[in-house]
Order: sequence, then structure tokens, then C-alpha cells
Amino acid sequence: MKITDIFKRQEKTFSFEFFPPKDEISAVDFGINVGRLMKLDPSFVTVTYGAGGSNQDRTFALVDYLQNKIGMPTAAHYTCVNASREKIAADMQELESIGIENLMLLRGDPPKGQTEFVVAENGFKYASELIEFVKEYFSFCRAGAFYVEKHVEAESAEADLQHLKKKVDAGAELLVSQLFFDNKKYFEFVDKARKIGINSRFIPGIIPITAYKQIERFTKMSGSSIPPELALALEEHQDDAKKSYQVGLDYTIKQCRELLENGAPGIHFYTLNKSRAAVDIFESLDTKKYFAEKEVI
Ligand SMILES: Cc1cc2nc3c(=O)[nH]c(=O)nc-3n(C[C@H](O)[C@H](O)[C@H](O)COP(=O)(O)OP(=O)(O)OC[C@H]3O[C@@H](n4cnc5c(N)ncnc54)[C@H](O)[C@@H]3O)c2cc1C
Repeated sequence: MKITDIFKRQEKTFSFEFFPPKDEISAVDFGINVGRLMKLDPSFVTVTYGAGGSNQDRTFALVDYLQNKIGMPTAAHYTCVNASREKIAADMQELESIGIENLMLLRGDPPKGQTEFVVAENGFKYASELIEFVKEYFSFCRAGAFYVEKHVEAESAEADLQHLKKKVDAGAELLVSQLFFDNKKYFEFVDKARKIGINSRFIPGIIPITAYKQIERFTKMSGSSIPPELALALEEHQDDAKKSYQVGLDYTIKQCRELLENGAPGIHFYTLNKSRAAVDIFESLDTKKYFAEKEVI
């Protein structure tokens, strides 16, 4: 099922992001976690694509498994890195042949060892070009990324927003954010986007920080800032893993509630292939209330 069709029957959605497990042991662990997460009944799931297409086979195998064996609407992430138009077309045909209907289309980060994004021969420079190409030749539902606190390479927040408009005009049907922790920034961003005519679903991408030492990693990874009260609380309990976990979890539950109660169209949860935090958070949220199916008359 296309994610856009899910929106027709579910006003707000919740979804999980996974990455392909690295080896057999991680795959066993992953299977256990997916089993737990599926009990929460998410609206859809997505599977990341390694920089440079390094784990392309594993991404395709995993989307096939989740979509066709588990029966979960699944989006395959796909990037422009090292991808010519011919390769993209062949990959799209392969995804189509295994019944994938949803894609998260991205530019991609430079692969390890490279500092700048390099356009592949006969490839694309921006996600918007990839989205336009996929829209022209294929019938997938197309998602794109957005950045509440601007993409790291963008010259300004305004320029980034204008580029996002191009992405939507090119055919992005829904947008999922990079992780962020400050809801005020999300609401301000959505207001600005609406003012320049971007009328998309801006789905917040959420992750809990459950240890003080994760702060640096997460801020570096996303370019997002950490509200001082959260940083302070995590610092205070940095020697107590149980308390830190609870601080991070409580913050995320509050963050999700505030987003959902003030108009966010859902939550996309970065699971990091784990299940404990997601289960604790979504069991605490009233999922039946927030993510109820619309009544069909
Ligand atoms: C939800 C989500 C999922 C992700 N999944 C993956 C994944 O699976 N694999 C992976 O490798 N990476 C993934 N990423 C990371 C992503 O690839 C990087 O953040 C990448 O640096 C930017 O990708 P993008 O699609 O947002 O690029 P773009 O939208 O192309 O933007 C990249 C930069 O170019 C600028 N720009 C865009 N259009 C123009 C234009 N016309 N003129 C001038 N400048 C322009 C933008 O302002 C921005 O600074 C994901 C990110 C998010 C938020």
C-alpha cells in the first residue's frame, strides 16, 4: 500500500526507521526487535540505504522481507550517491518487481573518506532531481527529507526552505524530518514553509537521547540542537544509566505528545534497530487516540 493511501484512512501516522543488520548476530537481534515493534501496529516502516549504495543488496532484501513476509507497508530509502540515471532506472525496476510501492528519495551523504558530495556520471546533484526522474518514469509514492534546523550545507535557512519547495514541486508527496529535540523550532519551520506555499505533511523524525554521552553523537549526526534543560538533566544523571534512560524517555514522550496535540501529522521514529525505547514510548502515548483510523461511513 502507498503511504499516501494510508493517510486517507489515518489522519496521523507513526512509523519506524530501520537499517539493514550488518551480520548474522545483528540479524537475529533485529528479528526479535522487529517482532516486538510490529505488535505496536505502526502505519509503515522505512529502511535506510548505505552511503554509496554500500548495502544496497541488504536494503532491497530487507524491504522485500518486511513488505512481503511481514506484510508491512515499507519504504526503501534510495540516494543519488554513485548512481547514474541508468542504474537508478534498473534499481527502480527491481524494487517495482518485488512489489515495493514507497521510496524515501535522498541526495545522500558523501561516502566515507569523501568530504563533499560528488555527482555521479549522468547522475543527480540534488534529491529534487532524483524525485523528478522517479516521478516521470515510475509510479512509486515519493517521500523526501527536511531539516528543522536547516541542512548542514545550506547557506541559510531561507535558501534551504526554497530548495525544499523545489523538492515538493518536483514530486515529493510527504516529508520526513531529520531528528530534532526542540518542538518550537519544528512549529516555526512549518509556519515558514506554509507561508511560501509548501503544503506538505511535515512528519517529525524523533529519537530519544537516553545517555549524556549520546548528545555529541546525535548533534553531530543531525546538526540539531539540544534544549539546555534536557542536556542539564542528562548531565546530572550521567553516572546513573537507569535515571538517564528515564530522563530521555520522559522528554521524548512529552515531545511527541506536544507535537501530536499541536498539529503534527505523525511521528517517524528512528529505532536504531532497537525496540525497548520505542515500545516504552508508544505504549505510554495513547496510540489508539492519536493514530486512530478514520471512520468510514
Ligand atoms: C528522513 C531522512 C532519511 C535519510 N536516509 C538516508 C539514507 O537512507 N541513506 C543516506 O545515505 N542518507 C540518508 N539521509 C541523510 C541525507 O542523505 C543527507 O542529509 C544529505 O546530506 C541530504 O540529503 P537530501 O535528500 O536532504 O538532499 P537535498 O534535498 O538535495 O539537499 C542537499 C543540500 O543541497 C541544497 N539544495 C537542494 N536543492 C538545491 C538547489 N536546487 N540549488 C542549490 N542547493 C540546493 C539543500 O539546501 C541542502 O543543503 C536521510 C536524511 C533524512 C532526514
